[in-house]
Amino acid sequence: MNNQYWNDSDVLFVPLGGSGEIGMNANLFHHNGRWIMVDLGISFPDETMPGVDVVLPDLRFIEKQRDKLDGLVVTHGHEDHLGAIPYLWEKLQCPIYGTPFTLALVRGKIKEHLPDAKVKLISLPFNEQVKIGNFEVEFVSLTHSIPDPAGLVLRAGGMTIFHTGDWKFDENPVIGPVSDISTLQSLGDAGVDVMIGDSTNAMVEGRTGSEDDARRGLIEAISAEQGRVAVTCFASNVARVDSLIHAARETGRSPMLIGRALHRITDAARSCGYLKHWPDMVGEDDYNLIPRENILLICTGSQGEPRSALSRIASGTHHKVSLDKGDTVMFSSREIPGNEVAIGKVQDNLIRRGVRVITDRDAPIHVSGHPCREEMAEMYQLIRPRLAIPVHGTIRHLRAHAALARDCQVSQALIPENGAIIRLDKNEAETVGSADTGLMTVEAGEVIAIDSDTMRDRRRMLWNGNVSASVVLSLSGELCVAPIVQESGLAEGHRADDYMAEASLRIEDAVDAMNDDVFNDDRVTEVVGQCLRGLAKSMFGRRPIVQVHIVRVDALAAS
Ligand SMILES: [Zn+2]
Repeated sequence: MNNQYWNDSDVLFVPLGGSGEIGMNANLFHHNGRWIMVDLGISFPDETMPGVDVVLPDLRFIEKQRDKLDGLVVTHGHEDHLGAIPYLWEKLQCPIYGTPFTLALVRGKIKEHLPDAKVKLISLPFNEQVKIGNFEVEFVSLTHSIPDPAGLVLRAGGMTIFHTGDWKFDENPVIGPVSDISTLQSLGDAGVDVMIGDSTNAMVEGRTGSEDDARRGLIEAISAEQGRVAVTCFASNVARVDSLIHAARETGRSPMLIGRALHRITDAARSCGYLKHWPDMVGEDDYNLIPRENILLICTGSQGEPRSALSRIASGTHHKVSLDKGDTVMFSSREIPGNEVAIGKVQDNLIRRGVRVITDRDAPIHVSGHPCREEMAEMYQLIRPRLAIPVHGTIRHLRAHAALARDCQVSQALIPENGAIIRLDKNEAETVGSADTGLMTVEAGEVIAIDSDTMRDRRRMLWNGNVSASVVLSLSGELCVAPIVQESGLAEGHRADDYMAEASLRIEDAVDAMNDDVFNDDRVTEVVGQCLRGLAKSMFGRRPIVQVHIVRVDALAAS
């Protein structure tokens, strides 16, 4: 940590995740020696992370000073904004602030993962200033693809910061209020120094469709079907679930929910007063009693998650629900980059069963939850910040957002990187240091670094294979038997046999050529390892994980 270029009185912004990537949002704000955190999300692994289920931000920077952390403010209930709480809260031990629906989801996670933790959850109303540590914090109601999304006004040290969270301007969000334009307008009138904003759709022209467009699109698409219809969407998209319940009613179908996450989130939504017209849902045991043209399945699995309801239905392994020829599955969702293969697999399985697949490319059955360029420009016209800091995007998204901000007369647009310590100032913002950052994951309840030795070895094993040699030496330092070489994942059939035979010969020669070093296990390991590695490199161009076992025996006793 480099802190020589900033002072305790500075207002600082430190993104620990989400700047340069979509997902894993985690941000820190500092003033007068104290910190607050905004969001603590997860992201999902890519092909370089074998065996990893969930990716978490590295919190070392704030852990070291957690006595100075006054709270975690969660902008909304998506996993990339709160999903890391069950894994990382114990490192922070601070109160958590959010809107009622967001906190209902946090409460559910804590109950499941940290049943004994005493977590203080504090509900914040919209449009009220609350003091959290050295910051005045105020929630502004926006629209997104989940209930109760909040933009965040932060005031400290004479600075006003507007942190948008995820948002769009939806004039008909179906559930919940529309975005609070008049508060945004008066915020802009009073003067905002910095806007930190969502960049997800910064490369998409025009406006994002309204949830009402998706509702109408779904009704139209479902009306055209004669067989069973299953629709998959994000469980957290409560408005979409509401649209589907509405569509079921309009098309003479009975709705049925499948998937744990859908039950959990709709329960939370109903406890907060959403989904008021909740119908009698078809139970899984009654599925086969309903005529096929009268059922609408609402299920999890839009991202091809292997254990999800839709994935099991597609592979024919769901214990109660099946779909076949004449039935239709609609994907009312977008493909999150990285999930294309998994989604494709589910769609292939469905098509193989004779099920028709409809996605948002075929019919207008999905809208994004993020603002396109026109809405972003409108937000800049309302807020009129002097400084824009684009977040929530890859570098391409952040660059496009920064250029748009400059086009909207914002005098400075600063593209942050995870770990940058950025001083926010009335005149100019600048990066004044860096905090430790990285990617973590959880294994057997332990939070570990994804670039740890174990994970590195696993990647090498996966991509380069694994070889081992057993060397049996007598007490006088001679080989008792030919070295035994084994491999897995290095090469196919006879090529692997050739490798093992040749390696054994090379080890034999190398050990025979050793002088007194042959009595030193470390030296023998080194020499044998060089033989195994050198041959793997020259034969296959691979760098496998190498293991050497040395056994020293009394040759006479052994014989
Ligand atoms: Zn979101």
